Amino acid sequence: MKKSAKVYLVGAGPGDKGLITAKGIDCIKKADVIIYDRLVNKDLLKYRKKESEIIYVGKKSSNHILPQEEINQTILDKAKEGLLVVRLKGGDPYVFGRGGEEAESLYNENIDFEIVPGVTSAIAGLAYAGIPVTHRDFASSFHVVTGHAKKDDSLNINWKALAEEKGTVIFLMGIGNIAHISEKLIANGRRADTPVAFVSWATRHNQKTLLTSLDRAEEVVKSGQISAPALFVVGDVVKLSDKLNFYQRKLLFGKTILVTRSRSQNSHLRERLEELGSRVIEIPTIDIKKKKDINKKIRKIDFQDYNIIAFTSQNSVEYFFESLKEERIDLRQLANIKIASIGKATSETIEKYNIYPDIEAKEFTGAGLGQVILEKMGKEGNKILFPCSEIASKTFENTILEYSNKVDRLEIYQNNINTDIKEELVEVLEKEKIDYITFTSSSTFKNTRQILGEEKSYLLDELKKVSIGDITSQSIEKAGYRVDLQAKTPSIASLVEIIIKDVENN
Ligand code: SAH
Repeated sequence: MKKSAKVYLVGAGPGDKGLITAKGIDCIKKADVIIYDRLVNKDLLKYRKKESEIIYVGKKSSNHILPQEEINQTILDKAKEGLLVVRLKGGDPYVFGRGGEEAESLYNENIDFEIVPGVTSAIAGLAYAGIPVTHRDFASSFHVVTGHAKKDDSLNINWKALAEEKGTVIFLMGIGNIAHISEKLIANGRRADTPVAFVSWATRHNQKTLLTSLDRAEEVVKSGQISAPALFVVGDVVKLSDKLNFYQRKLLFGKTILVTRSRSQNSHLRERLEELGSRVIEIPTIDIKKKKDINKKIRKIDFQDYNIIAFTSQNSVEYFFESLKEERIDLRQLANIKIASIGKATSETIEKYNIYPDIEAKEFTGAGLGQVILEKMGKEGNKILFPCSEIASKTFENTILEYSNKVDRLEIYQNNINTDIKEELVEVLEKEKIDYITFTSSSTFKNTRQILGEEKSYLLDELKKVSIGDITSQSIEKAGYRVDLQAKTPSIASLVEIIIKDVENN
């Protein structure tokens, strides 16, 4: 049976992937087809269903990749197939995005549609550049104007009214017509020294704000310091930018950091780095999978045999408890067992299951955890269950087994090297200016190196390498590279701190 067609015209916001509405995200999640523009942040596509289709209809002003008629037709065609279509547009769909025309064409063809408004760059883009669109002392109105005329037409603007109103005037698509715009405003009575600003790629990592005066605006564009997409804003509110430009003042603004990812731990790293204003490119060098037969093994375990369960990674915690759940094993079976954790991040993961670790290592190493167990639980007679990765080192077990204890190693997941991302990794390293590359474990480094292979390994030479701790640093050095920065303690917080310090010092 054919589903009934529906089209959502969704505003994706100005660029920062957090500036889309909750409803917008819901639409992306349920879409069968997503038709998106150049100004849409591609990271938003990660919310989509795997099997959904994505169609790029990006266009530059005056350099249309797809003419509007064809975009309308594509939307119609997909809707007529009975699909749920999301037309994802930069900013708000009805602010100069020709969203009105798209909606009309749907109306004309009797196709059900809805508009999901978005955060427009005209207001939010200014905010991220420290410019409040209105202010009691400076502007009691604002006007959003297109600087781009319909083909073969001149700008249809009441310049006199705009100039006399004295509110904030925001031009979208105004860069190409800047001479005309500034000339007309001055001729109609705006002071030549009125403060103006250009904001390009607003709310993005590469945002640029340029402050000048109305009579010098053309010069600035001619000098090539600013290019589209950009906002051009005229009015005294611009003066506040120096004080209020919170975004470009962020500690890591303007930095690009490559995170060689290994599941859960690092999405936290990404969040922290992004909060601090940096651009983060994640490269998942490790493909982590729970082992196939593990549930069967766990089902057979008699937990009463053990007095300690030791975890040396967040993954082992997550997979272990996932298996318990899948096998409907009651947590009370662990009631008398002490839980040992290698460090803060692992403990936090354990706590998610309402279990508070009894033992935590001071040093973030297998040997360190072994030592603490021997200290706290006595040197002999312990029976330890050790759920771990297939490639977990033996140091934990060896430390414990120096005395008469028993350790059962339960290999619960595999760390495979993710060679699929080779092309992506090489492209990023060749084309982007990377300020730091982070390694949060030996395997993230070893895998990165191995994925690149002999022939491309030179791409790592000049990069500033940031390591989470001794063991990771040793791997990097063993391969013949220099470690530029190492976290003081092996934790994400400390890793971030060391990057901030480095930025401050340079
Ligand atoms: N519907 C969009 C505007 C589409 S018109 C909105 O509501 O924001 C495209 C123009 O918008 C660009 O030429 C530029 O002037 C402006 N624009 C959109 N996003 C921008 C951004 N992140 N930074 C600067 N200008 C932006």
